[in-house]
Amino acid sequence: MAKKTRKFKAEVTQVLSLVINSLYSNKEIFLRELVSNASDAIDKLQFEALTDADILAGDTALKIRIIPDEEAGTLTIWDNGIGMSEDDLINMLGTVAHSGSRSFMEALEQNAQTKDLNIIGQFGVGFYSAYLVADKVEVLSKRAGSDEAFRWTSDAQEKYTVEPAEREARGTSVILHLRDDQKEFLQPYRLRALVKQYSDFVGHPIEMLEMKYSDEEGDPQFEQVNQASALWQRSPEDVTEEQYNEFYTHVAHDWEPPIAHTHFKIEGAQLFTGLLYIPSKARFDLYDPDVPHGVRLFVKRVFIMDNAAELVPRWLRFVRGVVDSADLPLNVSREILQDSKLVRVMRKQVIKKTLDLLNEIADDRPEDYAKIWENFGPVLKEGLHFDPEYADKLSSLLRFGTSTHEEPQSLASYVERMPEDQEKIYYALGASRHLLDGSPHLEVLKSKGYEVLYLTDSIDQWAIEALNEFDGKELVDAVQGDLGLESEENAEEKAEALEPLTAKFKEVLDDEVAEVRLSSRLAESPACLVVPEGGVASHIERLLRAQNQGMPEQKRILELNPNHPLIEAVKALHEAERQDKVTEWVELIYDQALLAEGSPIKEPAKFAHRLTSMMQEVAQAQLN
Ligand code: ADP
Repeated sequence: MAKKTRKFKAEVTQVLSLVINSLYSNKEIFLRELVSNASDAIDKLQFEALTDADILAGDTALKIRIIPDEEAGTLTIWDNGIGMSEDDLINMLGTVAHSGSRSFMEALEQNAQTKDLNIIGQFGVGFYSAYLVADKVEVLSKRAGSDEAFRWTSDAQEKYTVEPAEREARGTSVILHLRDDQKEFLQPYRLRALVKQYSDFVGHPIEMLEMKYSDEEGDPQFEQVNQASALWQRSPEDVTEEQYNEFYTHVAHDWEPPIAHTHFKIEGAQLFTGLLYIPSKARFDLYDPDVPHGVRLFVKRVFIMDNAAELVPRWLRFVRGVVDSADLPLNVSREILQDSKLVRVMRKQVIKKTLDLLNEIADDRPEDYAKIWENFGPVLKEGLHFDPEYADKLSSLLRFGTSTHEEPQSLASYVERMPEDQEKIYYALGASRHLLDGSPHLEVLKSKGYEVLYLTDSIDQWAIEALNEFDGKELVDAVQGDLGLESEENAEEKAEALEPLTAKFKEVLDDEVAEVRLSSRLAESPACLVVPEGGVASHIERLLRAQNQGMPEQKRILELNPNHPLIEAVKALHEAERQDKVTEWVELIYDQALLAEGSPIKEPAKFAHRLTSMMQEVAQAQLN
């Protein structure tokens, strides 16, 4: 077999230049990335060995070695993990093969000048970081179970070669030909310090050549330089903040330190350990339904899978970390996870611990919590809808802007501010704060000094339905629900007196509205539209209709303000049997109710025309 030269896929060249250009001041991270790959390769081998013990072929001391060679000017990262076949070398190192690469390229295109370490970190461009310090890289690898080895070589100039080669045992050696100005990475003390700093928690031994000693035959001696115990199995008192953060970088592929973590051991019917983190930023693909989520699952310290979605609900998909079970079988598959009772119990605990952590931050570190809410609030709200059993623990995490506070407020602080005579918690769904501020529906509440929660997120409609009350107070939709305010004196008489007019409104607007009735929520406005009980807020309905053309329009209820002079005047016109005028007024009042809530009107030209002629009449009257 001859040496074959191939071109990198276009995106590799792009990723390479991005890595080199944006990480030049963080060159040392290459070691962590390559060690992390070697550790993953050993995890994968162990995993395969669970079902095929022969694959270890007697070589069971799994480890990583770091070998500097002063004379050759090379630094080698060696492992006896799973190794790579010829195809693997081409597919893994010649393309950006890992999941999410497409969205990564999209993010890159949108953000061509990006220097955002975070974006790069999210994709584990790990291997290419070798070119931060090397001008040429060789990867010598033999796949476990095969006896053919191959050498992949590239100087990162668009091309790479793959050729047959010799390697004694299974595994991979990444040989870095260090650039002249990067020779510091040959110094053992520097390498040791880096391993301590970045890779101490790696679960497999990392060994370095011990320069001073060799045995009687003159064979080199190796010495372990990391602790090599799974970080999550240590007791929290023995783990420093830096170590927690380093480990986070490893599991989350995120270079920004997390905002918080929870490290716990569950004992009892089920024995498992968890180390969960809340990232400080949302990944840009947080809302991509195809992006896998979940935590890393280990069983008795053996890596089983990434993204174990069964352990974490989608509404906590931003959580990163590790769960290590002592009870699941080592050969557990996704199918088994899906209907395992053990897993359901673990999932409950993971949710509980995460919600406890979030509540703790909300109480003790409100500024940090504000960031969490900004990044992940809409995702948490999905939980109210999909897992209402957690509504209680979620309700204390909710934050909304209100009619009196632009900054998101907790329900508890809302309740604290409630005037004595206010019995219920009021909320309003709307497309924006601005529209709600001007919404006629809230007039009476505001005039009474009652605060209204502004629910402007499109998920809010579904989220809030799961929450009937908070702190013993009923939550009421200020736009459609019964406000529960004391009714006005002689309300019944008024309703009776206005009966013929409401009937007239209904007759004229029969195609548009389901009902016409008197309102208790209006102060300054003559009319407003409300959604029938159980209906969908109008801005959401428009969103839905934009997605699904066939969806029928929902008829709403027109509410009239019985105390408004305009309604009184129209009543008088109606009584005087000026039907031509009344119809015109009815239609105008309906249109302006639509406009006031930010809805489009059906015939804007007709509306404008009418308004013009009325303005004309009024202007002329003003002259007289
Ligand atoms: P990532 O680790 O995020 O997938 P990398 O660019 O670091 O991205 O590695 C690409 C792929 O190359 C890995 O997913 C793995 O399949 C393979 N690989 C890298 N290093 C090794 C190694 N030491 N042993 C086996 N496979 C490796």
